[in-house]
Amino acid sequence: MKVLKFGGTSVGSPERMKNLLDIIDASERQVVVLSAVSGTTNSLVEIGQAYLVGDKTKAASLISALKAKYEIFIKDLFAKPEFLEQGKEVIDYHFSLLSSIANDLFTPVEEKIILAQGELLSTTLYHVYLKEIGVPSVLLPALDFMKTDEDNEPVVDYITSHLIPLLEKSPDNNLFITQGYICRNAFGEIDNLRRGGSDYTASLIGAGIRSEEVQIWTDIDGMHNNDPRIVQGTKPIAQLSFDEAAELAYFGAKILHPQSVFPAQKYKIPVRLLNTMDPQAKGTLITNDSEKNQIKSIAAKDGITAVKINSSRMLLAYGFLRRVFEVFERYKTSIDMITTSEVAVSLTIDDTTHLAEILGELKAFGDVEVDADHTIICVVGDFAADKHGFGSRVLEALKHLPLRMISYGGSNHNLSVLVKTEDKVEALRSLHSRLF
Ligand code: ADP
Ligand code: ASP
Ligand code: MG
Repeated sequence: MKVLKFGGTSVGSPERMKNLLDIIDASERQVVVLSAVSGTTNSLVEIGQAYLVGDKTKAASLISALKAKYEIFIKDLFAKPEFLEQGKEVIDYHFSLLSSIANDLFTPVEEKIILAQGELLSTTLYHVYLKEIGVPSVLLPALDFMKTDEDNEPVVDYITSHLIPLLEKSPDNNLFITQGYICRNAFGEIDNLRRGGSDYTASLIGAGIRSEEVQIWTDIDGMHNNDPRIVQGTKPIAQLSFDEAAELAYFGAKILHPQSVFPAQKYKIPVRLLNTMDPQAKGTLITNDSEKNQIKSIAAKDGITAVKINSSRMLLAYGFLRRVFEVFERYKTSIDMITTSEVAVSLTIDDTTHLAEILGELKAFGDVEVDADHTIICVVGDFAADKHGFGSRVLEALKHLPLRMISYGGSNHNLSVLVKTEDKVEALRSLHSRLF
């Protein structure tokens, strides 16, 4: 059984929604994961923020603007009055929930309920549309099988034990529609897999049901060899390994949610990145295999803060790095890059929620310097077979820019450098013109 995920632009208009059946083969049993209609989650974020600051007037006007869009949407989606009426009931239900939610206390729990409405809307409307055109389908509530634990990690076994019985309940049905992004957390509350999380949903379902393939349908023909929003002339990559795809996703290639590769990798499920606007294009296939000895792609991750700890106590000392890392661990702050010299260590973080406390503790080790507004530029490929030459090619392309950190050798498929964010665009373009 395949899993097909369609992103926000792929369901972004009534016409796009209708065209999904050009891609979905309704004669094959499969799970179809939908994102919210593009722009909806951003609007829901704004609505939540308005409520959080107590601005109910602003929330109300954002809600009515979004509702107006859906009223137009359903007029184009449905042809028959009976189904238009059903579509209207769907949007009335979700929008009155949005309007009434802050009547009492507004907390992050209510905020997450708001964020969940986008995927609930898109999937329910699509389900009603399939009914209108006479294509049988079952709407599966993701909240019944997608679950995270106390550490906010999804639980694949829970998906398996809860989703398989739901699929078995409808042995003659082919299309199962479900929501991306949303889940229940360890407390049973409605939660989500973070922005862009529908890719993660698809991969988790693929793992949970040991799917033969996961297809991520989006608005571009696969993973490109650089960020197409910044660099001109980027090209799709035909084949990537799970490790390479994971590095690219983690270091900023927006086409994939950062964690989405891992479940598929663990259960060896091939992932294809495909273009809804050009379904014949080959896209990118992600498996255990990859072309060896090649630079594949470049990605960039903004919002990075570098922390340097200078300490003469590091000289010839053991246990120093462990004590430094323990400080970050205590504040649940993950470290991306690290470089060391005999008397200093530099590392980077992207979550600065607890930076002040972390710095307070690190001062006990020596002088601490902090540089905000940095970007990790990550060059990904298979550098194992023949290790010489890659580093010099990357550094040559960046020789006119100040580099704050360089990291190479941590794995066989990543060379990362840290630059000021203001130098990012130039770094990406210069690397692109010299490496490809
Ligand atoms: P969806 O809504 O389908 O999930 P996203 O907007 O999340 O789509 O991801 C697709 C977008 O990712 C593309 O339109 C493209 O602008 C952006 N992108 C960033 N880096 C890359 C890359 N290396 N390859 C392909 N797309 C990329
Ligand atoms: N709708 C969610 C978002 O915009 C999830 C997704 O599209 O993957 O982040
Ligand atoms: Mg996405």
